Amino acid sequence: MPDVLLLTLLLAAVAIGWWLGRRERRKAEDPAPSSGLARDYFVGLNYLLNDQQDRAIETFVAALEVNSETIDTHITLGNLFRARGEADRAVKIHQNLLARPTLSGTQGDRVQLELSRDFLKLGLLDRAERLLQTLVRDTQDDELRLEAKRLLVDLLEREGEWQQALSVAQPQLVRHSEEMRRAAAHWLCQLAEQERFEASPGLARKHLRQALNTDPRCVRANLLLAGLEHDTGHYRQEIRLLSRIPDQDPAFTPTLLDPLAHAYRLLDDEEGLIHHLRQLLERTPYTSVIILLAETLRQREGPAAAIALVREQLARESSLGALDYLMDLYRQDDQGESLERLELLQQHTRTLLKALPRHRCRRCGFAGEQLHWQCPRCRSWGTTKPITGIEGE
Ligand SMILES: [Zn+2]
Repeated sequence: MPDVLLLTLLLAAVAIGWWLGRRERRKAEDPAPSSGLARDYFVGLNYLLNDQQDRAIETFVAALEVNSETIDTHITLGNLFRARGEADRAVKIHQNLLARPTLSGTQGDRVQLELSRDFLKLGLLDRAERLLQTLVRDTQDDELRLEAKRLLVDLLEREGEWQQALSVAQPQLVRHSEEMRRAAAHWLCQLAEQERFEASPGLARKHLRQALNTDPRCVRANLLLAGLEHDTGHYRQEIRLLSRIPDQDPAFTPTLLDPLAHAYRLLDDEEGLIHHLRQLLERTPYTSVIILLAETLRQREGPAAAIALVREQLARESSLGALDYLMDLYRQDDQGESLERLELLQQHTRTLLKALPRHRCRRCGFAGEQLHWQCPRCRSWGTTKPITGIEGE
């Protein structure tokens, strides 16, 4: 059903147009009979009273003359149609405006911007892209150019055109917005991932260094750089790069644990891993760090050492995951009667843990098992992080 707002706006716009016209005619002492505008107004009103709102809208739109005073009304009308999901109608109104020779340069650019929004809404990405490229190149209005760039970047990002998105966003957008810097660093990471896959490590490294220059807190760039070292067997170098991640953002510590443990194992340096994990634990006493360290200790020194560590950490801070792991250790250590009770208890911790997501977007709250560099719900980059705390990693 059409919006009340839309109809009110139309009614008011047509009525004002009619009244202005009458006033002008009176000034000119022109005794012209009631104009076509007035007739259309009453026809439209009649449709409205008969609950034929769509026909009312069409009559009002046709009645509303396009001139420099009503151009804003026309643009707003189109936008209202788009907002209520009738983008094809919005396209008609905006295209109709563009065909008018009376538009000034900036007015024409504004209509083009709205038209590209209509196309985006309709999924006509090619047409939107062409309009936006023209606007970015030709408009004299700085505000409009900035907005066109934002829309174009968003579109190119959806299409996975990372390099193009970068060249539109740089330097202006990137300089002025932290969010854009974060996104640009991830586009460079996307390029680097592609290049790593295509066995061009040199190019990938170059893009990753650019990513870190753009956003020094880009965890993904360091993870990928570490991966490149891993590919060539430089495990010490890999470890060095991974250990920068907690400085960038301690919340990502759980993410680096797997590659870290793997690198130390390939170096056959268990002692080094234990030392490294103890340092991490001091700084970020996360469940996943506790469990990895305890598990490494268990394999090296037996369950008693692991039990001692987990108990000590649980005394510092509660953690469902660590509790579950402790029960595991007790079960391995105990063959007696309490085994059954432990199993029963662990059924509950397991169920609880299984129901918990492991990653959450700090912006929109989207939660899931996987780490997404770009949030699938709000599309922002680098805001999904491991969940830590009692129920987390
Ligand atoms: Zn989100």
